[in-house]
Amino acid sequence: MTEHPSWTQLETVALHAGQEPDALTGAVVPPIYQVSTYAQDGVGGLRGGYEYSRSANPTRDALQDCLAALEDPFRASAGTTRGLAFASGLAAEDTLLRALCAPGDHVVIPDDAYGGTYRLFARVLGRWGLEHTPARLTDPEAVAAAVVPGRTKVVWVETPTNPLLRVADIAALADVAHAAGALLVVDNTFASPYLQQPLLLGADVVVHSTTKYLGGHSDVVGGALVARDPEIAESLAYHQNAMGAVAGPFDAWLVLRGIKTLAVRMDRHCTNARRVVAMLAEHPKVTEVLYPGLEGHDGHDVAAKQMRDYGGMVSFRVVGGEEAAVAVCDRARLFTLGESLGGVESLIEHPGRMTHASAAGSPLEVPADLVRLSVGLEHVDDLLADLEQALG
Ligand SMILES: *Cc1c(COP(=O)(O)O)cnc(C)c1O
Repeated sequence: MTEHPSWTQLETVALHAGQEPDALTGAVVPPIYQVSTYAQDGVGGLRGGYEYSRSANPTRDALQDCLAALEDPFRASAGTTRGLAFASGLAAEDTLLRALCAPGDHVVIPDDAYGGTYRLFARVLGRWGLEHTPARLTDPEAVAAAVVPGRTKVVWVETPTNPLLRVADIAALADVAHAAGALLVVDNTFASPYLQQPLLLGADVVVHSTTKYLGGHSDVVGGALVARDPEIAESLAYHQNAMGAVAGPFDAWLVLRGIKTLAVRMDRHCTNARRVVAMLAEHPKVTEVLYPGLEGHDGHDVAAKQMRDYGGMVSFRVVGGEEAAVAVCDRARLFTLGESLGGVESLIEHPGRMTHASAAGSPLEVPADLVRLSVGLEHVDDLLADLEQALG
């Protein structure tokens, strides 16, 4: 990618990085190269460096360059930080862990990790011989204590966490991981690079489910990895091709299209969430609101230090336990009852029975009276009215 010193602000990067007008036609948007193979000029004579779309595809390349620039603009333009796009967030995670770890290695994971991530560790990579220890990431000493000297290869961080919105200090955990000879991996799905850039805080690799805020329109499933160190990036790229869980051209194009409006969408997600939080905090049927923007939130100071704003995800607990929480979800009308998050439309869900059902009975089980919101871009007065009626 060419160097653009004026392209360090995320709004600009999102629109232009990896997306110079098409050399052949001048098309201002990267075309969807819906193609599997490329004609060669004589054996091994590749015209644009492309031979087969599992290995490389121009639309996917555009997305990959844009992702790298969003997370780490200066090093991406220097060509050191690299992005890689996958068929889903979990495909990206699986590829990352098999590239960085071997059977017999150990990983420290959040004690409230995303349910699918926990299932990958517990039920899939566990059988492969990768061990894990859940730790409370808000406490760097607890993370240091969970490290197995000589065997821990990765400290896995989510911040804010899903669905409890706990906040981990990325810079402090990078020190803990590096002191143990391990890498710090941050799942940046909840914040998006607009609100938080973990590589600039000391993380080695960023993971995304691009299904969520990056795609932003609930119309695509995808994942991404962004790595700073060229050797690590090379190993991840090798495994991306060798394991084959790549993003298809149309999916890559949809994510690129979503990214163009990331900054304006995130600003509105945050302002709408702030109003929802203020209403819930005063509501008699609500016992606790979990949102890093609240001054009383345990992680507020760390969030204020490492995030631009506090995001669109809000969780709360209700009077009346599990039945009451499920009833709130069932009564909501404008908030669509559904899994996933980060789209333009607001969603509501019951983590205990839905997204985090696979963590039941494990150390990662979530409270039964918890409701999770992904606050969307509808008019905030309509969102507030729907929550009022759903709470009854
Ligand atoms: C959704 C999600 C994932 C998994 O991504 P998929 O695209 O569904 O495979 C991983 N981490 C977090 C925080 C998520 O919200």
